Formats: sequence, structure tokens, C-alpha cells
Amino acid sequence: MQLAEFIHTIGADNPALKKGYRQHMYINGEWRESASTFLSYNPATGEALGPVAECSTEHTRSAIEAAHTAFASWRHTTAHSRSALLYRTWQLMKERQEELAQLMTAEQGKPLKAARNEVGYAADFLLWFAEEAKRNYGETIPSARADQRFIVSHAPVGVVAAVTPWNYPISMLTRKLAPALAAGCTVVLKPAEATSLCAIAVFKLLEEAGFPAGVVNLLTCSEPRAIGEVFCTDPRVKKLTFTGSTAVGKQLATACAPSLKRVSMELGGNAPFIVFDDADPVRAAKGCALVKFLNTGQACISPNRILVHHKSHDSFVQTLQSRIEAMVPGNGKDPATTIGPLINSAAVEKMQRQVEDALSKGATLICGGHKLDGEQFSQGHYYAPTLITDVTQDMLIAQEETFGPIAAVMRYDDESDLMQIANNTHYGLAAYIYTRDISRALLSMEQLDFGIVGINDINPTSAAAPFGGMNASGLGREGAREGMSEYLETRLAGLSL
Ligand code: NAD
Repeated sequence: MQLAEFIHTIGADNPALKKGYRQHMYINGEWRESASTFLSYNPATGEALGPVAECSTEHTRSAIEAAHTAFASWRHTTAHSRSALLYRTWQLMKERQEELAQLMTAEQGKPLKAARNEVGYAADFLLWFAEEAKRNYGETIPSARADQRFIVSHAPVGVVAAVTPWNYPISMLTRKLAPALAAGCTVVLKPAEATSLCAIAVFKLLEEAGFPAGVVNLLTCSEPRAIGEVFCTDPRVKKLTFTGSTAVGKQLATACAPSLKRVSMELGGNAPFIVFDDADPVRAAKGCALVKFLNTGQACISPNRILVHHKSHDSFVQTLQSRIEAMVPGNGKDPATTIGPLINSAAVEKMQRQVEDALSKGATLICGGHKLDGEQFSQGHYYAPTLITDVTQDMLIAQEETFGPIAAVMRYDDESDLMQIANNTHYGLAAYIYTRDISRALLSMEQLDFGIVGINDINPTSAAAPFGGMNASGLGREGAREGMSEYLETRLAGLSL
């Protein structure tokens, strides 16, 4: 069954769902059935979209065996042939952009326009690494001995286990698959339970592009712990790449340590968004509204602590408020919708908890601050886009990753400890600075302990640029040249003449 036919099976009214059709797992080039299934839901409507295969630890071992066997020949294919397969997948993804976007909106909730953008971003990784595959250069190093030569080359690490999140359910897959495959690794991937159908759709494209059996394998499940354990302990797996919460990332990295598996960890964030006194507060507020409410705030680079100088504060807040009040919450498939639902009811409860805590400690509610009610919202997980001011460092919202549609503004008067406040988090993923002073921008950037700094820029992400965090936000980088080196070993040859 190809992508179009697969997408046709999704939705409450489809006969396949009524019959209990089992969306298959993909192992060794075959779609296999499972004895049991779980359901994937539309977070905007609560509608069941389709049953998904419940994979066991046995399936996991068989997928790892397939990847292990395939690695023996895949590692020796030419970079040009691997590049051609990635390029073909890129073409297919671009051709199917609309179908994939519609599926993503149904399963993850983001508005269609944002879903189209995400499919484009996902495809960018396929193209970038199709090109990068051919640039796996080595080097020669001069030796102190006249009769000796050093030759450095790079070899694929081996079987890669990949675990991905639900918030960017297609691009987070290609950001791992494309560099791993370009490097010559084989992959077993487990997507987030909430967005399994999007992952199945991506694997339909990989199959259609013609990747050999066993090179890419997909396991879906509703309870990830058991599969995670096999990933971390099976000696055939040489590398674990994970995107998700810091808590789970730490558990998995710890479990990988006894066998010294390589790990890449793209984890949570708590981004400061700093508006200096010389910045244009209106421009900064417009940028803030865009990046804060992107994906309903469910982005790891979402600004969490918005630090605004008292001189610009009122003007900044006014603009941000008007932007927030103009947002149209709803089902992402409706063209008028500009902000979708949260992924589940636990996320809505987290918003309520953070706002209640902030208000009880003296924050001011400017707009939003409640669940959305009314018939159109009754079956989904909706929280009103919210603005609170007078936020202080002791509030939960300043300490935890919010991962939702709440803009929390902290006013500051004195710049002397601003960088210390910005760095006062165990996270270190993204930070933003707004200023017109180039020296101040560069000096601040150098003091911020964050892997990504947007300077008057809210979108410092691209397949061409290294993405990743410092401290509790992770290990390693995705995208760019660094993205492929995460899947390569360095091999030195010393040669006596
Ligand atoms: P999560 O950690 O709960 O889940 C992420 C993935 O891990 C899912 O596939 C889940 O099934 C799996 N998982 C959970 N427990 C596991 C276990 N014990 N063993 C194996 N797998 C397990 O995170 P989430 O709620 O899905 O995603 C949101 C988090 O991801 C946020 O913290 C966000 O900041 C982070 N994130 C980071 C990036 C980045 O690039 N740094 C990108 C997107 C999301």
C-alpha cells in the first residue's frame, strides 16, 4: 500500500478503522502485522484516526537484526548511491507535501499552513544530506617521521536506534534518518505514540524511494519503555539518537552508558527572549508573538522567559497583546485557524498549573489564562493564547519548560545581572536577543550559555545550520556538517613506507 492509499485509510468513517485494520510496522523491507493495536487521535476533535501496530520487544530485536544484517552491505554502498536514494525521497516528499501536511494537521493539530512548512523543512534535511553524503572527506596529516604517513577517514557507526517526539512529527524523523543514511548507517526508528501515522507515512516514502530491505525499520508502540530498554542494551545497536524531554533523555543516556553506546540528545529548553532598551519594542513583540505561539508553543526553542527593559515594556506588551488577541484558535484544517490545540489533556493541565502558580505569586494576567470552551472546542485540547506580565524567577513558568501558548513577560531595570538571569536555568537550547547595537549583540551572544542564539531573528534554524543545546538541553548537533559527523567514526591509518 503506497502513501495515498494509506492516507485514505485514516479517519473515523473509513471502513479500515471499523474493521480494525492494523497499521503495520516496517521491518526488513516488509509491512508486518501485530497481534494488538492502539489508536491515534486527532487532538482538535478527539476523533480516532486509525489503529497502529503495538510492537513488542521481539519485534524490536527482529528490526535490530534486520538493520544489523543490512549494515554489512549498506556500509559499502557508494556515497553517490546513498545520495541518490535520499534525493529520490526528497522528490517524493515534495510531491506529496499536501497529503503529508493534511495528515499532520489531523494527527498533531497544527494549522495546515504550518504543517506544509514543516513538510518543507523535513524535506530540506533529505536534500541537504543527499548532498552532504558525497562530502564525507578524510584528511592526511604530516608525520614527524619521514617514512610514515597518516590517513584519516570516516566510517559509519553501525546500527542506529532513533526515538522521536510528536511536536514536529515528520521533520524530527528526517533530521535523524537523512544524516544516518547518508553516513552509511542503518536505522531502527520509534516515533512518538501520538504521531505514529505521520511516521508510517514517512516510511511509505522511504519504501517507495527504494531503500534496500533492513536499512530503515519502523516500530510503533503506545508504551515506549520496553522498546527503549532493548535499544539501550542490545549490543548490535551502536548509537542512540533521541529527541524529547530532558528527563527521558537522561534515563536513556544512563542506560546506554554501560555498553558505551554513542548518544545524541536533543532535549528540552527554557529560552530567554531579551529585549534591550535600544531595541524597537514593536518589532521585538511581533517577532516574539510569532516564535512564542509557533506550534501552539510546543517547540523546544519557544521563548519561555521574555525579559523586557522597563523603558520598552509597555509598548512591547501592548503590541504582543494585540497580536495574541488577533489569533484564531481552532481545528488546524480550517483555513481561518492560526493556532491549533495542544497535544493532550495533560498539556492543558500544565498550562492551568503554571498560570495559577504565577498569579498566586503576583503575576498579572493580560489576556487568556483559561481553557477554551464552546462547542467547537469541546472535544479537543484547547487553551487560550495567554499573556502574563510581572513574572518573577521564583514562578514555575520561569523555571519549567512551558511547552504551550503562554507568553510570560519579566520586566527588568538593571542590565548588570541580565545575563546571569538568562543563564539561570539548567537548560541551554535557544536564546533570543533584540538590540540595535552590534557590539552589545555580540557580547551578549558570547555570554549566553545556549546552543542557538537568535539576534533580532526568530528563526535561527535550517537544515544547513547546526541545531542543538548545551547543558541539560542535550549532546550533539543535528543538521549541517555536524549532523552527519554524529553518525561517523574517525579511523586513523598510520602507514610505514
Ligand atoms: P518525551 O520525552 O515524553 O517523548 C519523546 C519520545 O521518547 C517519544 O517517542 C516517547 O515515546 C519516547 N519515550 C518516552 N519515554 C521513553 C522511554 N522510557 N524509553 C524510550 N522512549 C521513551 O517528550 P515529548 O513530550 O514527546 O516531547 C516534548 C519534549 O521534546 C520537550 O521537552 C521538547 O523540548 C523536546 N524536544 C526537543 C527538541 C530538540 O531538538 N531539542 C525538538 C522537539 C522536542
